[in-house]
Amino acid sequence: MSTHEFQAETKKLLDIVIHSLYTERDIFVRELISNSSDALEKMRHESLTAEDVFDADVPLEVSIDLNEEKHTMTITDTGVGMTREELEKNLGTIAHSGSGSFLAELAEAAQKDVSLIGQFGVGFYAAFMAAEKVTVQSRSWDGSEGNEWTSDGAGSFTISDCPGLHRGTRMILELKDDAHEYATKWKVENIIKQYSAFVPFPIKLEGETVNTVQAIWTRSKNEITEEEYNDFYKFIGNAADEPQFRLHFSADAPLAINALLFVPKENFENMGFGRVDPGVNLYCQRILIDQHSENILPEWLRFLKGVVDSEDLPLNISRQALQDNALVLKLRKVITKRFLKYLAEEAKRDPDNYLDFWNTFGIFLKEGVTSDFEFQKELAKLVRFESSRSEDGKPTSLTEYVERMGEGQDSIYYINGPNRAAIEAGPYVEMFRKKDIEIIYTMEPIDDFVLNHLGEFEGKKLVSADRADLDLSTDGETDSKTEDDKLETEATSELITWLKKILDDRVADVIDSKRLVDSPAMIVNPDGYMTSSMERIMAASRVEKGLAPESSKKNLEINLASPLIKQLAELSKKDEDFATEVAEQIYDNAMIQAGLVVDPMVMVERNYKILNKSVGV
Ligand code: ADP
Ligand code: MG
Repeated sequence: MSTHEFQAETKKLLDIVIHSLYTERDIFVRELISNSSDALEKMRHESLTAEDVFDADVPLEVSIDLNEEKHTMTITDTGVGMTREELEKNLGTIAHSGSGSFLAELAEAAQKDVSLIGQFGVGFYAAFMAAEKVTVQSRSWDGSEGNEWTSDGAGSFTISDCPGLHRGTRMILELKDDAHEYATKWKVENIIKQYSAFVPFPIKLEGETVNTVQAIWTRSKNEITEEEYNDFYKFIGNAADEPQFRLHFSADAPLAINALLFVPKENFENMGFGRVDPGVNLYCQRILIDQHSENILPEWLRFLKGVVDSEDLPLNISRQALQDNALVLKLRKVITKRFLKYLAEEAKRDPDNYLDFWNTFGIFLKEGVTSDFEFQKELAKLVRFESSRSEDGKPTSLTEYVERMGEGQDSIYYINGPNRAAIEAGPYVEMFRKKDIEIIYTMEPIDDFVLNHLGEFEGKKLVSADRADLDLSTDGETDSKTEDDKLETEATSELITWLKKILDDRVADVIDSKRLVDSPAMIVNPDGYMTSSMERIMAASRVEKGLAPESSKKNLEINLASPLIKQLAELSKKDEDFATEVAEQIYDNAMIQAGLVVDPMVMVERNYKILNKSVGV
């Protein structure tokens, strides 16, 4: 017999499991059955190709035996089993990727809302919620002799020889004093019905099969009840509530597909759970070949739960080979397009419900636009933004925007800002308001990247309103104020020359604005592909990486009909020092309205100088 210490992370996990998750104790049964089910799935898959399988004839199943007098629960499976090394590694360490952050998140979730724990899959160690001692006897399908693992969950475990076992794994739980109910049949049967009804192997409780083994996704839609669908979702998604959307579809050509996909109600990445694993499993003829498949759907659909089954896939395909298998790529395309089409239909059928979805999962679709060219056309129909014509909090679609476009308008316009009020008070929307042209408000940091990636929608260019070359003039109409209000031509060119001299190190150019109505000035981007919002985010990400932020020089547009600008022209001749302060303040104000960074210290100091002057200090 040899004694081993648990890995440090495992000790922490055990501590959380034993002390914090107490109220969700039932889930340990689910965790152990799910491990058995995984081991059976692996066995089924291996036996298709492997030549030598130990105990090849034993049926694939899970048996649960209870002893009310001795207070024990025994779960036995005929799955792949574990060798001595596997016992030591699999039941002594945590396999979860980035186990450190996993633990921190788990501990936090355990404090916040214990029912969320179901999402985590605490795994094998959950056994110690109910057991004071756990014994695991296991024999691998490779036929090597069996071993026995034991622990009380305190800090160490032992492993010793255990000859004469059948293939598979047996877990014997000696129940704690306050957990004796787990040795009673009704209790265990209820838990299995609640959590493990869809395990695709017989679960025999005291010799009696308690689940109906079925692949729900291969059955015909009209034979499946709402309740069955919801129960299946809860099973496959480890969820406690119902899904928000469900798509069940089958196809025979060009590929044979049975898919059952669910959208949950919550976005777990939003709740501080970190990046979620993909939630769709890939089957071939009801045999699981890739759990939490990274290949069957694009990464940005990782929030979906469900099953994809295709008879066309070769059964003996390895997980690695899935990655660039042409058939898998084709499946992925077909299923993704089908799902996006379904979303578009739902958006039409029940717009409010779709908006709920958009508010929760829109960020994933935006990720899709910026990371995946393949589905941009479909995704463009699904994105939603607020606009000058939409109600507050009720974003609109690009399709609706285009339908509302007036004659002669050939672009879709957008402008970034922190919120609706700030955008509407800013200089960029002035001419849009005056000309009654709708403008989209992009209020999330990623939004300008999304629209930039799309480039156009239904043949209409997507244009940011802070572009320098924006032209909103339409035939027969004059822009801005009437020429009489404006500064004389000569005075104008003098003022512009003077401003360029003063702001030379900061601006690329100073320009007579054609689109300011009331504001004295605004910042625009001569680089048509970069918006101020994008620049701000890229600068921030450079700072995060310890690099100096990069910024390009912008154009300052001035409003020659603005009284302030007109007076400034005069002032620059009479009191150049003061005029310089005013010009610099106008520039800083425009930068702030563009959401760009100015030096606050310098600005405040200058601002006080100007204030002093105006009150006559
Ligand atoms: P997970 O199932 O998420 O991998 P667990 O803590 O539940 O994490 O299990 C850890 C590992 O122990 C499994 O990945 C598997 O390799 C092994 N294991 C657990 N139970 C069994 C079993 N009944 N048969 C074979 N291997 C098992
Ligand atoms: Mg597990």
